[in-house]
Amino acid sequence: MTAWTKEIGLALLLLLAISVIGGLTGFFIPLLFLLIISLLIWQVVQINRFERWISKGGRGKYPKAKGIWEDIYYHVYLIKKSEKKRKKKLGKIIDQFRKSTDALPDAAVVLGKEDEIEWANTAAKNVLGLQPSDRGQRIPNLIRFPIFVRYLKSGLFNESITMPSPTNSNITLTVKVVSYGAGLRLLLAQDVTQLRKMEQMRKDFVANVSHELRTPLTVLKGYLETLQELDEPLSPLLSHSFQQMHEQTERMQYLVDDLLLLSNLETQPKKTHCVDIPALLSKICKETENLNNSAGRIELTLETNTHIYGDEQELRSAFSNLLGNALKYSPKESKVQVRWQQTPVNLVLDVIDKGEGIAESEIPRITERFYRIDVKRANKVSGTGLGLAIVKHVLLRHDARLVVTSELYKGSTFSCCFPSERAC
Ligand code: ADP
Repeated sequence: MTAWTKEIGLALLLLLAISVIGGLTGFFIPLLFLLIISLLIWQVVQINRFERWISKGGRGKYPKAKGIWEDIYYHVYLIKKSEKKRKKKLGKIIDQFRKSTDALPDAAVVLGKEDEIEWANTAAKNVLGLQPSDRGQRIPNLIRFPIFVRYLKSGLFNESITMPSPTNSNITLTVKVVSYGAGLRLLLAQDVTQLRKMEQMRKDFVANVSHELRTPLTVLKGYLETLQELDEPLSPLLSHSFQQMHEQTERMQYLVDDLLLLSNLETQPKKTHCVDIPALLSKICKETENLNNSAGRIELTLETNTHIYGDEQELRSAFSNLLGNALKYSPKESKVQVRWQQTPVNLVLDVIDKGEGIAESEIPRITERFYRIDVKRANKVSGTGLGLAIVKHVLLRHDARLVVTSELYKGSTFSCCFPSERAC
């Protein structure tokens, strides 16, 4: 029997007793009234006891009660108990999270809707110079680097930014913001000084080696050409050896030139002026055709006469590489289309060939340095594996991107998409 049925049973029993006594004594109505009043008073007392217990947080064991009230106390007690358990578990998780973030060498700061600091780990003190007393303060008031303030204001957190540490200008930090929850943001700052130093060393090393190799290679190539042009007839073995040596020296020279170009793209400041793209393309198409013995293969379509801001030398390298590839990797008799056009959002240069195409899985890799698809086949076609890496870098420096669409044995389209704002 449940507490409710017991309670109703008791009320009915009392009603029955009153009916009998009332019937015998003739006081049924007053007795019924007395019963209702007593039951009401009893319930009010119980509610009052319950209210006093719950207002004290319902802590500890609940007071002794009878009937339905015992059940109510018991259920509330169980809810409280499980809530306490849940709170304890949550507290433990938060504690573990804090301990682990405190052990991190990177700074982690939780920011509120107004960029105010809600919480920061220990590393935030060393890396960003934030003190525990800074909690509640707006972070742009504490870290005032314009690049940082602009980044926070922009709300564009796909990329990270690089800035000096507010505590030590010799330390370089990368800062990234991750949005989560309702308006909350987690700011992460990592010390990348060592990484940057090593990157710089690598760049300097490649630049120096390429530069130093240029002169010996030129001398070597010069002597080889002189030897090949001698009037005295050479034995077939010597003639073949000179030919091979000449080819390999030339290949090395291309490699060194490409490496130097890449290293310049990484280190030199950008030079921008208004570049006449239609004129540049006409020139490159002619030069590339001559250089590759491919007269009449390139069809140039200029759908727009728009010029863009950029570095002519760099754009020439990128476009020449794309055109050279289109001719190299397609049959000798096939045409290559070059199209300069304006789309609603971009200015686009398309280089379209009907060549061997590129498998979908290879497309993301072709712009990596020294990456050549199917090395055996690629070795038959001259190249350094640096051409598309140069294209990618040049486009990056022009806020543009390279889009490659290709189908095996049908052909490829390499599109350089420049933002319309570059038009001049
Ligand atoms: P490479 O000096 O080998 O041409 P790139 O960096 O220019 O180096 O190109 C990387 C690889 O991408 C090439 O080895 C080639 O396999 C592939 N590739 C580039 N352009 C094309 C194209 N138009 N058609 C098919 N494959 C291409």
